Amino acid sequence: MHETVKVLVKALAISMALAAAMPALGQNATGNDRDIENNLMMAMAWKQTAAEFRALYYQGFNIARMRVEIALAQKKDDSLPLAIISDVDETLLLANDYWGYLITQGQDFFDDASWDRWIEENRAVASPGALEFLNFCVSNSVEIFYVTNRDQGETTVQLAIENLNAVRFPHVDAAHLRVLRESSNKEIVQQQIREDYEVVALLGDNLNDFARRYYSTDVDQRMSLMEQDKDRYGRDYILFPNPTDGHWIRAIFGESEPPASDENRDIIRRAATRAAWAP
Ligand SMILES: [Mg+2]
Repeated sequence: MHETVKVLVKALAISMALAAAMPALGQNATGNDRDIENNLMMAMAWKQTAAEFRALYYQGFNIARMRVEIALAQKKDDSLPLAIISDVDETLLLANDYWGYLITQGQDFFDDASWDRWIEENRAVASPGALEFLNFCVSNSVEIFYVTNRDQGETTVQLAIENLNAVRFPHVDAAHLRVLRESSNKEIVQQQIREDYEVVALLGDNLNDFARRYYSTDVDQRMSLMEQDKDRYGRDYILFPNPTDGHWIRAIFGESEPPASDENRDIIRRAATRAAWAP
């Protein structure tokens, strides 16, 4: 073949190969955009840096303490002993370190396998004000019940005990820690505790930490159920902020831990633009 023709054929072959590769390049470009638009990014920047995020924990524990003080002042000699029931993850323990890791790995949805590995490393930290509040309860003979739904297999309870001990929380033992592996329904345990204690307040980052009736996959229904209980917030329901996980995610996707997929990225985009000005 003539040298010029050879070069032309080669150039054509390269351009055809490039053309064939365009969809893949397109995906890469989307991947880069996705890195910028990682749906965890703003939520995690807020969790990791906003003084407002930490202040909301202090606010929650200050309210909880006020509720305990009122209950102590009103307590009668023959009434049941006082107790508080608290969720663990994102209420008493923060996992910013884990969610930050996901972003560094290019992941934009919760990942159960790495979560289980992370739990084993005892890297969770106490939320702002948690330790002081729990110690206040103990010093006033108010029982603390840690009620969590976690599942790391047979080691779930031991790992939860290690996590809570690592941050020096009080009364971490079988009597005070209730781990629900099979179901996230906390009401059965709450009722058991209420047989022996007057429960002053429930603490959580998920409405399901308060009542099972919020376990709805309908965003509007969940919202209206919350509205019906609006007088309980800041009283017996003490809520902490969590913009990365919880049953609000389940209400959007139909499941609490939706897999990373473009379909789910579209769903979260639709959720984020539920109301959107279109001039
Ligand atoms: Mg939680």
